Amino acid sequence: MSEQRINTTNGTETVLQATTIEQFQSRLRGELLSPSHEHYESTRKIHNGMIDRRPALIVCCAGVADVMTAVTFARDHNLVVAVRGGGHGVPGFAVCDGGLMIDLSRMKSVRVDPVNRTARAEGGATWGDFDHETQAFGLATSGGIARPTGIAGLTLGGGHGYLMRTYGLACDNLLSVDVVTADGRVGYVQTRRRSITERRPTTSSLSGCGPMQQRMQRSSAGCGSSGGRCNPFRPAVCMSTTKRSTTWTGSRQPTAQASMPGWWP
Ligand SMILES: Cc1cc2nc3c(=O)[nH]c(=O)nc-3n(C[C@H](O)[C@H](O)[C@H](O)COP(=O)(O)OP(=O)(O)OC[C@H]3O[C@@H](n4cnc5c(N)ncnc54)[C@H](O)[C@@H]3O)c2cc1C
Repeated sequence: MSEQRINTTNGTETVLQATTIEQFQSRLRGELLSPSHEHYESTRKIHNGMIDRRPALIVCCAGVADVMTAVTFARDHNLVVAVRGGGHGVPGFAVCDGGLMIDLSRMKSVRVDPVNRTARAEGGATWGDFDHETQAFGLATSGGIARPTGIAGLTLGGGHGYLMRTYGLACDNLLSVDVVTADGRVGYVQTRRRSITERRPTTSSLSGCGPMQQRMQRSSAGCGSSGGRCNPFRPAVCMSTTKRSTTWTGSRQPTAQASMPGWWP
């Protein structure tokens, strides 16, 4: 891979030498895409076709270690970062111009615990992935209406769907999150009350993540963010979430496919 010009968080451009990029690549299990890579064009595209941003590099993370490596690399080089989950965020914060895009869309594993009625999903899973696994056990949780929407982005923004009137928002059913913090380490955040009497703050503990981060940054003086930029010095990437599932007793499965055909490819 040849040298790359890449944007930094202080508004300047820096040049990453070929050897630096190769060292970065060698520490990844997933792919590192530059604009000349055959998968670059398809990977940078998101649901909103009006967003046409071109990252300098895209890390297609294969697992947690890749996310940690990518966040550390971004911090060390002070890079503009965007994090992609399901890629359905309308303003396009999942992709940045000239920076480092951390793409989680290949991290889709979902593991259901039918005894405790919970499901643990990776940060790139969509509601289609999630529902596919939980419905095999007759379980469901509050989630999105459309299958390709990412569970991470949707839940971090609250998340409303078919079951919300009975079971609350998607974020109300979030039990815990593994987070890669800005220093490249993994943290475990327990987000929700464990019993009906215990209350835990859902949003404040995750206030550095995703759309919530951007909302807070917009409303807080002195830490503004715009144009799809995420500050890599704030907590950054949720790799997996554990969600409470409930037994689905309806006659129709609560997926978008069942009730809203034609919304997705
Ligand atoms: C067709 C369509 C249908 C929709 N239906 C619903 C609905 O039924 N209910 C509802 O509540 N909303 C719905 N939405 C809105 C949707 O929930 C939000 O746009 C949400 O942000 C999309 O999340 P994503 O992961 O798919 O998108 P992305 O664009 O990948 O991410 C959105 C934001 O979350 C951040 N993010 C994503 N994953 C992570 C992660 N793992 N760690 C840290 N940050 C992350 C990104 O950086 C970005 O800022 C819909 C949107 C579309 C386009």
